[in-house]
Amino acid sequence: MKKKRIVVKIGSSSLTNDDGEIDQIKFNDHVKALAKLRELEHEVLLVSSGAVAAGFKRLGYITRPITLKGKQAAAAVGQSLLIQSYIEKFSGFHIIPAQILLTRDDFTNRDRYKNAYETITELLDRKVLPIINENDTVSVRELTFGDNDMLSALVAGFIKADQLIILTDVNGLYDANPNDHPDAKKIDTLTDISDDMLACTDESGSKVGTGGMRSKLLAAKTALSVGVPVFIGKGFGPNKLVEILHGNGDGTYIESENYNSISINQQWIAMHSEATGKIYVDKGAENAILYHSKNLLPAGIFKVRGEFKKGDIVEVFGLNGLIGKGEVTYSSRDLEKAIGKRSEEQTNRVRTTPVEVIHRAKWVTI
Ligand code: GLU
Repeated sequence: MKKKRIVVKIGSSSLTNDDGEIDQIKFNDHVKALAKLRELEHEVLLVSSGAVAAGFKRLGYITRPITLKGKQAAAAVGQSLLIQSYIEKFSGFHIIPAQILLTRDDFTNRDRYKNAYETITELLDRKVLPIINENDTVSVRELTFGDNDMLSALVAGFIKADQLIILTDVNGLYDANPNDHPDAKKIDTLTDISDDMLACTDESGSKVGTGGMRSKLLAAKTALSVGVPVFIGKGFGPNKLVEILHGNGDGTYIESENYNSISINQQWIAMHSEATGKIYVDKGAENAILYHSKNLLPAGIFKVRGEFKKGDIVEVFGLNGLIGKGEVTYSSRDLEKAIGKRSEEQTNRVRTTPVEVIHRAKWVTI
């Protein structure tokens, strides 16, 4: 089998028990299965939750804390315990783990995003196993990535993983909630996550599965949009991840029929950037960008709104609304001038070579 780059996401309930401790049996099972993937020379990244769940007991709480500071303190205790356990258990397989803690800001800030990418790539090149969690202790909003499903999708996207495996205690998606409908059918494969599906799925129990499926569906949708196939389901034993890779997993495989290749730059523009301005284009420019993969040139622009600098991200509107986002090579002031100059050129019938306002490589259609 071709060597693959695989992101495996494991949630708190698959790693810990209700008493606030790491569940040694479950934990060892995952470690062995991850080690098996490595033995087969796949590149592996683990997105591991469980910090709060593994830490609250040592912190002196009887049950999982409900205050933000309680959760964040528990995460600080539990994250070290988790990593300590991973280091110990993986050492038996001569695998060196590395801890990476990320927040939303690390994705929004372009330099931090690139740095995280470079670091993870370097770790993979050096055969280290990155273990990623949200940096719960400093997250400004309450554990922003929640159960880490979305974090795993974003990571899988930006390192261009061949497969995202979301391990959970449910064996995939169903066409109705199996708790309420005993005849609900399991969905083995899907090519898309439709808005209808998302609308009728909630966190607690859903039409298409049970417990926490909505965030898994949202994560799967995000991963698909950046070209990463997803498996959601469960497994047991050292071969469970290999079986999943071979298509024999107990769960749902979500794979698109046609993937768009989207660079990390474009992923950042599409999913994390904040636009500082708006550009309005005519029908000709809209068609050229959307259907003929062209750059956006000053000639197609008729209105500029907001103040932006060269290198900022702007939203681009066609006649019927937003069509995409991209990185501009002009400031708003220079672009206004270029549009003015164009009218002059038209009047005087002279022409200069236009510099693209947004290059194709820095454009994403929305
Ligand atoms: N980042 C959190 C933790 O590690 C995730 C909490 C959860 O699984 O809901 O505890």
